[in-house]
Amino acid sequence: MTQCKECGNKLDLHYGEETNNLLLSKKLCFTCEYFANVLTRYINGNLGDDKLTIVDEKYHVFVLCRTPNNAPNHFLGYNGQQFYFQHNQTGTLITCGNVWDNGTVPQHYRNRLKPTCTQLYKEEFDTLKKNHKVLSI
Ligand SMILES: [Zn+2]
Repeated sequence: MTQCKECGNKLDLHYGEETNNLLLSKKLCFTCEYFANVLTRYINGNLGDDKLTIVDEKYHVFVLCRTPNNAPNHFLGYNGQQFYFQHNQTGTLITCGNVWDNGTVPQHYRNRLKPTCTQLYKEEFDTLKKNHKVLSI
C-alpha cells in the first residue's frame, strides 16, 4: 500500500487514470498534491500572470485575480465582492474584486504556507489607506 510522503495517509486512487498515475508518481495524496501546487504558486507569487496567491491570518488561501474589463459579477470570484487585505511585511494595502477561495492550508503545510496578509474590514482599509501604499488588483 502506497502512502503519501507528506501526510502519511494511504493513497486513495479512485480518480481518473491520469490523476491516479500523477499521485502515484509523486507519492502524494490528492489533498497534498493540490497544496504542493498552491505552494509553488505561493512561492512564485507575483502578478506576472495577473494573479497573486496569498494566505491570510486564518490560513485561508486566496487567489487575487485581475478583473477582466466589463466582466459580469457572476463570472468573478465571490460574485465580485470586494476584499481588503494588508500585507504583513510591507504594510501595503491590497484590494481585489475577483477573489477565489483555494481552501485552508492543512496543518502539515503550515510551516511552508505561512500567512502573508491580514484580511481587513473596509472601514479599517479606508482608515489605513491615508498613509499606506494601495495595490488594486
Ligand atoms: Zn497527503
